[in-house]
Amino acid sequence: MAIQLPVYMDNQATTAVDPRVLDAMLPYFTEKFGNAASRNHEFGWKAEEAVETARGHVARLIHATPREIIFTSGATESNNLAIKGVAEAYHAKGSHIITQVTEHKAVLDTCKRLQKYGYEVTYLAVAKDGLIDLEELRRAITPKTILISIMHANNEIGAIQPIEEIGKIAKQHKMIFHVDAAQSVGKIPVDVHRDGIDLLSISAHKIYGPKGIGALYVRRKDPRVEISAIIDGGGHERGMRSGTLNVPGIVGLGKACEICLKEMAQEAERAARLREKLKAAILSRLDQTSINGSMQHRLPGNLNLSFAGVEGDALLMGINDVAVSSGSACTSATLEPSYVLRALGVPEDLAHSSIRFGIGRFNSDEEVDYVADRVVETVQRLRDLSPLYEAAKPHSP
Ligand SMILES: *Cc1c(COP(=O)(O)O)cnc(C)c1O
Repeated sequence: MAIQLPVYMDNQATTAVDPRVLDAMLPYFTEKFGNAASRNHEFGWKAEEAVETARGHVARLIHATPREIIFTSGATESNNLAIKGVAEAYHAKGSHIITQVTEHKAVLDTCKRLQKYGYEVTYLAVAKDGLIDLEELRRAITPKTILISIMHANNEIGAIQPIEEIGKIAKQHKMIFHVDAAQSVGKIPVDVHRDGIDLLSISAHKIYGPKGIGALYVRRKDPRVEISAIIDGGGHERGMRSGTLNVPGIVGLGKACEICLKEMAQEAERAARLREKLKAAILSRLDQTSINGSMQHRLPGNLNLSFAGVEGDALLMGINDVAVSSGSACTSATLEPSYVLRALGVPEDLAHSSIRFGIGRFNSDEEVDYVADRVVETVQRLRDLSPLYEAAKPHSP
């Protein structure tokens, strides 16, 4: 089978909308365009029915009840709503929040803003494998702590935090536990009861749904979690998130969740097989190549490699018919290389020369072979030209 160029292998950044998701959404742009809040006619009822069906699909995927699902514009908003919402609602109880250094910016910058308003935030360190230390988490808890916010799977290195154990610690200390699960929901099992999760952020576009739609799970029982709204208005979503519902988007998120529930097990197996194939094809042919983050606790489709002796930007340019992400500075707005890799203790030069491969539902074996060949060729060519590589090479006896 011939492959189409460029090859998309950046599925931790976003995913293509699954054709089945698009088909489910289309009628809600045209003949079923009603406002889900219109109570007086068929147009409104149809839209509301579709929204409630979708709410059921989202809930089922994470073992929640439909009334615990609040639709938002995506995981960024869900993280803001969860953290700011708890900070405000529980202010009388305390003003200390615990999170960790490799969270998505939507969590880190939300916490930073709360610090400006007088909240105290502890940022737990991670080990070389990307995971937090549970003892350190226990030690960080104070009588003033109101919230623990730890992501499930990391977007750069795919590291999966031990959320079930974190949930237990949170319960023992009666803390609210928020999880940014944008990368894990739909790819690995998430169960808000087993994992002791009180608030959970979901994004549709990471699971083959559309961009601009997501959800926040808000526990209603044992304990009933309160959050203050950040968007006020007509009182939609039980007052937690006002604004006319994005019905086509919600239908898309629901369909994406329905598909994930059915296909997750096989899909994870397939993604892991392709990832192992990619890893073997590159590592067997290149030396001085290191894996960033845990291989044991990792999202099935994620691989993050650093290539000693090459510049990340030169590498990306060399493989310009392959869409992947780099931990290098030039791909981001800041001058710093990936803060996630730096937090693992990856040296600056190796953080600059890192590539994140995100294998997804629509990647084929042929694409994996192609990407491996292109990477190996390009790294070899750049190293042949590079004095850095000569320096990094172990000295021959
Ligand atoms: C993509 C992502 C987000 C942001 O989600 P949006 O829906 O794009 O706002 C938050 N956290 C993680 C871990 C992500 O991967």
